[in-house]
Amino acid sequence: MEIKRGIAVSPGVAIGSALVLDTEWFRIPRRSIPPELRLAEMARLREGLAQAANEARAHQATITAQLGGQYGAIFGAHALLLEDPALSREVEALIHNEGFSAEYAFSRVMRRYAKTLQSIEGGHFATRVADLFDIEKRVLGNLLGQRREQLKDLHDSVVVLAHDLTPSETASLDTRHVLGFATEAGGRASHTAIVAGVLRIPAVVGLGEFIMDVSGGDQVIIDGNRGLLIIDPDEETLEQYQHLLNTYRSFEHGLEELRDKPATTRDGVRVSLLGNIEFPEESDHCVQSGADGVGLYRTEFLYLDRKADPTEAEHLDAYLTVLKKLGNRPVVIRTLDLGADKFHSTEPIHGERNPFLGLRSVRLCLQNLTLFKTQMRAILRASAHGEVRILFPMVSTLLELRQCKMILAEVKEDLEEEGIPFDRRIPIGTMIEVPSAAIMSDLLAREVDFFSIGTNDLVQYTLAADRNNEAVASLYSPGDPAVLRLIAQVFQAGRKYGINVNVCGEMSGEPMYALLLLGMGLRHLSVTPRSIPEIKQVIRSVKISEAEQIAQEVMCLYTARDVNNYLREQTRRVMPDVMS
Ligand code: PEP
Ligand code: MG
Repeated sequence: MEIKRGIAVSPGVAIGSALVLDTEWFRIPRRSIPPELRLAEMARLREGLAQAANEARAHQATITAQLGGQYGAIFGAHALLLEDPALSREVEALIHNEGFSAEYAFSRVMRRYAKTLQSIEGGHFATRVADLFDIEKRVLGNLLGQRREQLKDLHDSVVVLAHDLTPSETASLDTRHVLGFATEAGGRASHTAIVAGVLRIPAVVGLGEFIMDVSGGDQVIIDGNRGLLIIDPDEETLEQYQHLLNTYRSFEHGLEELRDKPATTRDGVRVSLLGNIEFPEESDHCVQSGADGVGLYRTEFLYLDRKADPTEAEHLDAYLTVLKKLGNRPVVIRTLDLGADKFHSTEPIHGERNPFLGLRSVRLCLQNLTLFKTQMRAILRASAHGEVRILFPMVSTLLELRQCKMILAEVKEDLEEEGIPFDRRIPIGTMIEVPSAAIMSDLLAREVDFFSIGTNDLVQYTLAADRNNEAVASLYSPGDPAVLRLIAQVFQAGRKYGINVNVCGEMSGEPMYALLLLGMGLRHLSVTPRSIPEIKQVIRSVKISEAEQIAQEVMCLYTARDVNNYLREQTRRVMPDVMS
């Protein structure tokens, strides 16, 4: 058994067999081979190895003819390893003694070799490790008859393990069969993590290197609450997790009963609890989990996985789908926030050296007015059919906000001239997710109808800690006093100018921070639909006076560690039933 610790990004427990994506999505069976069939399995292995060796020799000949002998020799070395009797003896022993399938036994041995080479200091053998993976793929291809899994088309349940997954790969996971996933890379507020929450599957990211320690078919556990990946669990651990899985299911079931109850605190303050969505199909999740509306529709997901930008009609179609599902509840549509980790999956926008500080989001739209106006037209047209609000992301200066509003006014004029109906008084909001915007919030507040605090980015830009980088994950904390001071400033500006302040980053979906934010003045929050019942439970179990006292204490603390420890303690005290 091996336990890896990473960052918990989507709660729950998954227990299942591993599908390791670095083996090019080969599904490696770990069936137990009965003793009477083991000799045949060993023969099958030898055949697979011989076939792979022949292929490597053929490759050697072709490459030598094309590029010369020294390049061909690489494949000659592959063939030599494949023909090495010591290799087949070791794999055969696993088949014979453990009853492993040929694929699983072979993968186990290759991963042990790779790990040994990797551990040699100086990284001199890194290319040899790549060779071993190449050989592993070749043999698995032969043994499995080149059968590959499509993540969209799985037939059995698996736990997906990968170095990294892009947001669109994550979005394409078939949740009927993918029980959960774990990745070596990634951070708490990465978009991959957000999409995992949306899909309602347990996920842990930022685990560091583990792919070499696991073979496809290994039994694994993902603990999405504590951020653990457990490889090859022992019986006791497995039993514990099986029990936890059942408890978790009944906890979720209990939360469902909250669906039709209002998000009102124990002292009678009604809080507006909204949902974050990425795809129109998620509107159902929002309604089913009892949201008061959509507080953040991340429209950039309309642009992922496609070569051409969506047309006005395609935008409108998506927005109308959401509005129809939401009935008369409000829907906040955020304009395109493309860039940094939200690229078109087929082609990056351009090769910037530092895309997080580059031409992204509203900056990109302001330089591409056709793109911006097309989306604005669709948002305005949708506003004739429901309670639509428009939200600008990544605004960092007052002038930028004014430019956005000016373009919106031009688009309104165009629609007016064309006689196309829209809501002339459509509420306009700005995201507060860059420290400069938080600092200037008293001025920005005079020019908009609402604020939405994007803590995912606000934390990363305040602390200069990439939200996707596991190496700086300990710095990346919404509980850092610097972040809290900025948030307090924004609430203050909102109160002074009488505008609503929503919090839509992942922070508000965590019970202990929700408790803190309520005490700081939060009355509108937007979270992933999956967290709605739990956050509703938080709201319904506290009194505002209690939360205010906690917030006051927190604002006197000096470090994120003190804040988080104190909040954990208070959450347990005030809401012993809330799982966090
Ligand atoms: C945020 O930054 O907190 C936010 C809600 O926007 P996104 O996660 O889409 O960047
Ligand atoms: Mg953001």
